[in-house]
Amino acid sequence: MTIRSRFAPSPTGYMHIGNLRTALYEYLIAKNAGGSFILRIEDTDQERFVEGAVDVVYETLKDVGLIHDEGPDKGGAFGPYIQSERLPLYKEYADKLVDLKGAHYCFCSAEELEEKKQAAEKQGKAFKFDDPCKHLSLEEARERIKNGEKYTVRQTIDPFKKTTFIDEVYGRITVENKTLDEGILLKSDGYPTYNFANVIDDHLMNITHVIRGNEYLSSTPKYNLMYEAFGWNIPTYIHLPPIMKDAHNKLSKRNGDASFQDLKAKGYLTEAIVNYIALLGWNPKTEQEIFSMEELIKNFNIQGINKAPAIFDIEKLKWINGVYIRNMSLEDFHKKALPYYEKAIKRKLDLETLSKVLQPRVNVLSEIIDLVDFFDEMPDYDLEMYCHKKMKTDLDITRKVLPVALELLQDKKAFESLEAMHEALMTLPEKMGLKNGQVLWPIRTALTGKQFTAGGATEAAYLLGQEETLARLKKAIEKVG
Ligand code: GLU
Repeated sequence: MTIRSRFAPSPTGYMHIGNLRTALYEYLIAKNAGGSFILRIEDTDQERFVEGAVDVVYETLKDVGLIHDEGPDKGGAFGPYIQSERLPLYKEYADKLVDLKGAHYCFCSAEELEEKKQAAEKQGKAFKFDDPCKHLSLEEARERIKNGEKYTVRQTIDPFKKTTFIDEVYGRITVENKTLDEGILLKSDGYPTYNFANVIDDHLMNITHVIRGNEYLSSTPKYNLMYEAFGWNIPTYIHLPPIMKDAHNKLSKRNGDASFQDLKAKGYLTEAIVNYIALLGWNPKTEQEIFSMEELIKNFNIQGINKAPAIFDIEKLKWINGVYIRNMSLEDFHKKALPYYEKAIKRKLDLETLSKVLQPRVNVLSEIIDLVDFFDEMPDYDLEMYCHKKMKTDLDITRKVLPVALELLQDKKAFESLEAMHEALMTLPEKMGLKNGQVLWPIRTALTGKQFTAGGATEAAYLLGQEETLARLKKAIEKVG
């Protein structure tokens, strides 16, 4: 059997991290077995329509490297791949399901239903809709439809039976049918609900593996009752545990949590995000933590998917991102860093060298801004900053060091390269009988006014250039008195 999996997003205009993980696992499960990965756009909820949202799906999949084999933009033998273009199919299959006694026509209005719900609530009873239309004869129902009455198609469920199915992650699940509600499959406007469309589409598109969030686990028995009524094969189910923000809250855009687009805007690399979310819910059962897409395809297995919810750990993502930054070529890093330099630095600077300094030090590209913003303008700083316990330095030492540094850096040669600057500054500790930190900390502070910067005294002095370095040292000497 050739595996066919599908990604079926409802276009919202952004890519939730959970959805991206679902897409990734769908892709990996298909590709690991040489199968096909299909994109289907689930746009039947017209109230949630967002302009341009489908493009966000295409762009994200392309950026991440999840290349679909069939989809609205690619075509394929099982199209159309956009649900709003499949309405006649849903109608046809809804009628068929009625014939097969898996569904019935319902003429109750939303208002009537609401009234019944409220009446139950008043009596303190749990509401379960017992549809009177279930008892209409098919002839009568068809007659009413012919007469132009509005109707929906509702699932018909035998309450006296049980439904059992296997999920690859959660195991064998059995539910009493009486707990399942006979929900709407086809709305009065002819649009299907998710509960119906997913069954019809997955069957007609020959989907073998359904991978989705576990919020669909409890409805799955209802889908299986439809598969059975149609006499269709039930797909392999792989329901994924949620991604949590913490022990109690799901990660969600509504809670202000990051989407793929947000993480990209914060300076995370696509490859690092993919690597991290692959591990959010999948245990490779080895020590390996860094995986390329090829390695993921090769190693991914359904058995390694965890049942327990995964907690999104931004520190771990930062660490992985740092590994990817370190593994880039200097040229690539420089290209990625340039937009951040443009934002934070107006002064003319040897940016290639700055990249050399930064690449080993940043984990996320957006950290760059805070590390380089002193180049344009010396920030206000407190004299306290010169006193550093660990460096064993204080204001008295600073008062001795800065004038000597000013003298030393009159020599243009020190500014020829980072190495030349390093050599020049490193003559000071011995000459002055001080430790390295006691000399370098005051100089760094005088040049940057910050605790954390790109590199230390050497880097700051070299990159600022002679004129600016001397000017800042003079100002600092005045300041410390
Ligand atoms: N459109 C559904 C969603 O975005 C898809 C669920 C599924 O994969 O079946 O949640």
